[in-house]
Amino acid sequence: MAYKAPVRDFTFILNEVLEIDRYTNQPGFQDVSSDLVDQILEEGAKFADEVIAPINNPGDKEGCHWAEGGVVTGPKGWKEAYKAMSEAGWIALAADPAYGGQGMPSVVASAFGQMTAGASAAFSMYPGLTAGAYAGIHANASDELKQKYLPKMATGEWSGTMNLTEPQCGTDLGLVRTKAVPNGDGSYSITGQKIWISAGEHDFADNIIHTVLARVEGAVPGIKGLSLFVVPKYLVNEDGSLGERNTLECAGLEHKMGIH
Ligand SMILES: Cc1cc2nc3c(=O)[nH]c(=O)nc-3n(C[C@H](O)[C@H](O)[C@H](O)COP(=O)(O)OP(=O)(O)OC[C@H]3O[C@@H](n4cnc5c(N)ncnc54)[C@H](O)[C@@H]3O)c2cc1C
Repeated sequence: MAYKAPVRDFTFILNEVLEIDRYTNQPGFQDVSSDLVDQILEEGAKFADEVIAPINNPGDKEGCHWAEGGVVTGPKGWKEAYKAMSEAGWIALAADPAYGGQGMPSVVASAFGQMTAGASAAFSMYPGLTAGAYAGIHANASDELKQKYLPKMATGEWSGTMNLTEPQCGTDLGLVRTKAVPNGDGSYSITGQKIWISAGEHDFADNIIHTVLARVEGAVPGIKGLSLFVVPKYLVNEDGSLGERNTLECAGLEHKMGIH
């Protein structure tokens, strides 16, 4: 059955239940009127119904393709759909305008995220993981890292991931073994294995920015000894251009039911 985003339900919740118009005195909400929200949701629904929903079923049947050297390509039409989403500005909707975003309240982006996930849970992982990595870097990284990575993640030119889970630990991340050794120039050499990394390798974006949990050599055991590192698939030069391929590699694809 084709997906049809329930726009009326979303506008009812945002406008009539939450009364989004009442919050224009709050930071980030100044320019948010119910008319604007309606327009965004109408257009978002069209995108979810017409661009994402049609590729969901064939994409799940075909799945992603892994080739020697860790090269992963998505199912037919997915790269084009991701590019259309990025070019239409949907990925940047709630991102900070100081770092390439449109600054819409996250409640509005969440509504669009729900439509995306309704149309295709698998497809929604790519912008979803990017938004998570963006938020992690935005909240915690140095200004240098933010300037370097966030604007291109906001547009979707570069996607993002979270690399937490390892073969011996999922819930109990205190057992993380991935190790970071300082190189003496502010960078680190990281070694280890991560598993189940959603959107961890693909051909949709020019670069993939992994956020990786690791323990700096000599740090205390358990959760308190962990740090989060930015590990780009392609190293990024001072001028923002792409440099050398980093040495990380996707060793295989997991088979996750419903999100191939
Ligand atoms: C669809 C999907 C996508 C994923 N994407 C990512 C990703 O992008 N990046 C990433 O890093 N990981 C990802 N993961 C991995 C996910 O984070 C782990 O599956 C999760 O952390 C749970 O770990 P586990 O599977 O090893 O289960 P376990 O840790 O073995 O847990 C199994 C069960 O035991 C319970 N349990 C565990 N420890 C305790 C305890 N001390 N006390 C009581 N109960 C306990 C848990 O609640 C759970 O019910 C993904 C997983 C799935 C299914």
